[in-house]
Amino acid sequence: MGTERIAYKLVRWCGLPWLFREVLFRRSVRILTFHDPAPDAFRRVLGYLHRHYGIITLDDHLSGKPLPAKPVVVTLDDGHIGNHALIPVLREFAVRPVVFVCAGLVGTNRRFWFKHAARSGSSEGLKRISDAERLRILAADGFTPLHEYDVPQALGLEQLKELASVADIGAHTLFHPCLHQCTSTVADAEIVGSKHVLEELLGHPVDGFAFPNGDYSSRDAQLVSRAGFRYACTSDHGFNRSGGTFLLKRISVDDSGDIDALSVKTSGVWALLRAVMGRQRLHGEHPVPVEHPTGTHHETLTNA
Ligand SMILES: [Zn+2]
Repeated sequence: MGTERIAYKLVRWCGLPWLFREVLFRRSVRILTFHDPAPDAFRRVLGYLHRHYGIITLDDHLSGKPLPAKPVVVTLDDGHIGNHALIPVLREFAVRPVVFVCAGLVGTNRRFWFKHAARSGSSEGLKRISDAERLRILAADGFTPLHEYDVPQALGLEQLKELASVADIGAHTLFHPCLHQCTSTVADAEIVGSKHVLEELLGHPVDGFAFPNGDYSSRDAQLVSRAGFRYACTSDHGFNRSGGTFLLKRISVDDSGDIDALSVKTSGVWALLRAVMGRQRLHGEHPVPVEHPTGTHHETLTNA
C-alpha cells in the first residue's frame, strides 16, 4: 500500500472526516468529479455515498429547494466510452449524475488529446502553452483532433442517448482545449459548438457546462453565460452554498474507488490539510501561490 493511501486511511479513521461531514459542513453542497471509473469501483463509491450522504442532482441544488443533510452531487467529465457501463450502477442506486461530454468526440473514433499526450508524458506541459502551439506540437507527434483512429475513446451516439436516460448531459467543449489558452474566437466556437452539437444529438436543451481541465478566465465564464448555459462547473476545490452558478466548485476524486480517499476528500478534511500544507510552504523556500481566479489544473493525467 502506498504512502498516500496509508495517509488517507489514517486521516479517515482519526474521526476528522466524521466531524466535518456530520457537524461542521452538514449543510454544504459537495459536487464530486469523476472521469472514467470502472463499474465495480463506481459501485463502491455510490454505496459509500448512499450510506453517508444525501445524493442529489445538480438541478436540486440550483433550484433552491430544500435539500437533505450532507448533500452531494456526482459528475463525470469528458464522456469516456467506459461511462456507458456505469448505467446499471446508476440505476441500482437511483443516482442521476451530470456527465459533461466533449461533443466533438461523441460518436467518432477521435481521441482525447490528453490521452495521446500522456503516452510521452507531455500532457501537463501542453496545458501551459497557447492552444495554437499545443496543436502544433501534437500534430508533430501524429495527433490531429479530427483524425479517426482504430478504437473509439468517447461514447457512441446510441450510448450517449442511453446514458441520457439515467444522467443529465452537459457540455465540456468540442475537443477539450484549455479555454484560457485559446483566442476568444476559438473559445467561443468550442463553447457554443458543444451546446449546439449535443442539443442536436439529444433533441433537448443542454444547459450545463464544465471547463476542460478546470481552466477558465473571466472571459470564458462570460462566453459560457452568453452561449445560453444555465450553469458551469469549475475544478476549483471547495463546497457550494448558494450564489454564482457559473463558477461552481467541485471536489476531484480519482477513479480508483478508494473509500479512504473518498471519505477524506468528500468530507472537506482534505481541503483543510491542503490549506495547512500550502500555508507551511508559503513560509518556505518555494512559495505556492494562492489559488488564482483563472482556475486550477487537475492533479493527474487521468483527471482531465
Ligand atoms: Zn475534462
